[in-house]
Amino acid sequence: MTVWSQVVGQADAVEVLTTAANAAAVIVRDGPGSATGMTHAWLFTGPPGSGRSTAARAFAAALQCEYGSGCGECPGCRTTMAGTHADVRLVVPEGLSISVAEMRALVQTAARRPTNGRWQVVIIEDADRLTEGAANALLKAVEEPPERTVFLLCAPSDHPDDVSVTIRSRCRGVSLRIPPAAAIADVLMNRDSIAADIATWAASVCGGHVGRARRLATDESARDRRAAVLRIPLGLRRAGDVFTLAGELVKTAESEASEQSESRDEAERDALKTALGAGGTGKGTASATRGSAGALKELERRQKSRATRTQRDTLDLALVDLAGFYRDVLVTGSGSEAALNHPDHANSARTAAASWSPESTLRRLEAVLKCREALELNVKPRIAVEAMVTTLYYG
Ligand SMILES: [Zn+2]
Repeated sequence: MTVWSQVVGQADAVEVLTTAANAAAVIVRDGPGSATGMTHAWLFTGPPGSGRSTAARAFAAALQCEYGSGCGECPGCRTTMAGTHADVRLVVPEGLSISVAEMRALVQTAARRPTNGRWQVVIIEDADRLTEGAANALLKAVEEPPERTVFLLCAPSDHPDDVSVTIRSRCRGVSLRIPPAAAIADVLMNRDSIAADIATWAASVCGGHVGRARRLATDESARDRRAAVLRIPLGLRRAGDVFTLAGELVKTAESEASEQSESRDEAERDALKTALGAGGTGKGTASATRGSAGALKELERRQKSRATRTQRDTLDLALVDLAGFYRDVLVTGSGSEAALNHPDHANSARTAAASWSPESTLRRLEAVLKCREALELNVKPRIAVEAMVTTLYYG
């Protein structure tokens, strides 16, 4: 399998990227100016789950590929896809954690000559989360890129304004679309060896999000959480259910997020302690210990900000599922043939369509969307969710 088989349902983007990778290979062989079609700065945009960073990584692999094609077999391809290639750096801004100093250091490293004579590649996931200072430090490098350095920025297409206009104007855009369900089912079966029936089901309910489909297909607790969310609309029978279900929704998001964070946090803490040489004795130990305590505190601060982010993202995912259900009710009620977001809950959508007026369904859908906005504006999750569930109950 080539590196492009990971880039699901994006034929147009893959064509652009393979053409550029071929040009890049000619430049490596024959020197600068020997081919056109290669660019030093790229911006990958697309809806959540469309595989922005996967596409960026596949492109990075093709740039490091011995054959220039992204064969998927050579050491260049393999180490890039595994995240261990010496000349490919992946930056994931979490919370507001990438500082100006770090970005400057990164830009400096990226300006070095590539160790294997091909390219230095920097992939920045969530470029929309860079601080202004960090973005400015990056801008200088993007404006005057070293001869063999390539920047691959990723950002969600629904927030393009969060990447500064100046950076965007210096980048060549690659826009990804929501991959079709059939393409997602294919990749689950062929890449992840998931049984056909589960793969088809997961692809049909994942909202075009490949990672989510894989999770639903392989993780029972993810399936349970989705089912719990989709029980809410018809599960609201009494006014008292509002607070119970709102509380459960928030708690589930919290526990899912902390499950995700815990193992990662601990691994990072251990790595930092090892790097700081924990347990040393002798001269200078006292001041070193003071320094270590500061570094650990800084790490904990970052982990906390990331945990908040993860929690919000997890809750948002649940809200997207919920909004999808109310949309399904409207689709069903109107007699439209449009595909449902949750085909496996078609019966519930029919029941709801028969008992609610379209206006009240629309009010419920709007309440979910408003809750998403409130969370984006940092309203406390419990308050935003309770307000939403109240409308979901009364309609
Ligand atoms: Zn290769």
